[in-house]
Amino acid sequence: MSAPRSGDGPAAVAATPGPAVLAPFQRPPGRALMLGHVHPDADVLGTLLALGAALEARGWDVVYGGPHPAPAALDFLPGVARYGVLESLDGRFDIAVLTDCPNPLRTEGLIDRAKAVTTAVVNIDHHPDNRRYGHVNWIDTSAAATGEMVYRLLLGLELPITPAIATNLFTAIHTDTGSFRYSNVTPATFQIAADLVIAGADPAAVATAIYERRGADSLRWLGEALSRVQVSADGEVAWLALPAGTVPEAFIEAEDLVNYPRSIASVRVAGFLRERGGQVKVSLRGKGDVNVQRIAARFGGGGHPNAAGFTVAGTLDAVTRDVLAAVAEAMRA
Ligand code: AMP
Ligand code: MN
Ligand code: MN
Repeated sequence: MSAPRSGDGPAAVAATPGPAVLAPFQRPPGRALMLGHVHPDADVLGTLLALGAALEARGWDVVYGGPHPAPAALDFLPGVARYGVLESLDGRFDIAVLTDCPNPLRTEGLIDRAKAVTTAVVNIDHHPDNRRYGHVNWIDTSAAATGEMVYRLLLGLELPITPAIATNLFTAIHTDTGSFRYSNVTPATFQIAADLVIAGADPAAVATAIYERRGADSLRWLGEALSRVQVSADGEVAWLALPAGTVPEAFIEAEDLVNYPRSIASVRVAGFLRERGGQVKVSLRGKGDVNVQRIAARFGGGGHPNAAGFTVAGTLDAVTRDVLAAVAEAMRA
């Protein structure tokens, strides 16, 4: 355990973003777009729903959506029914906000369309590889989740934190930290989480909604998936390669399957590779000593040093071989 870091006390938690970030929101209520990234997770959905609800309380008209629908596993997030697939963007917006989205490719072109209908694209993110594509870019790589940042934004704007908003932000932080277990967790994470619980988030209800709503079949699918975990001879790399059709998509979206190979004590890099529609989506996880973001970048993806991903064309076998070779090379370096 490392000692508490000085400067990370309550004052740091209360620190709000600078005037350039606050400015686009400090205008008479108008029309706002909350734009999500591909295959939205709880960090992006929770932050967009929280910020949008807070703006609505101040009279803004808010549109929520992105290239893909919210997964069924996150149907408990307050307001998530408002989030939909955006085929096109109608009319002008006074502001467009993207959260947790490191690069324009992760919106499948919607960011370019957003730029055509607003002069205020606000990019709020905690990924180190963020491309700063917004008119305003607020990137804080020390935040465990974008949920921490949006909490600080709401404080800075003196916007209300209702129980629904608190639940969305708490879930964003809860999931992006692996339930407060990953190395990205700081004292600020717990302080913000505590504030959100005071504001009405129910930690037990969120944990139950995320982890304890499985159907009985899910345990069989889990068994099917886990039976495919493989471990390298030296025990340092473990991976799970899942052919298309093995288990239902919704099950995969609801489970962080990469965490199982990651949980083996000797493992330094874990991988989850899933075939879908002629492509393979790869999730990589490290434990601090191998930078998996650099490995993902070689395949056109990105993420964080300990959690990264990418999607490439190819067969499951070929991609698995290429990824394992790249991992081995990174571990030798
Ligand atoms: P995942 O493995 O999908 O849970 O993603 C882990 C991390 O990698 C997240 O921070 C993602 O934003 C990031 N990531 C996943 N896929 C990509 C991609 N194709 N391009 C950039 N970042 C990605
Ligand atoms: Mn995300
Ligand atoms: Mn995130």
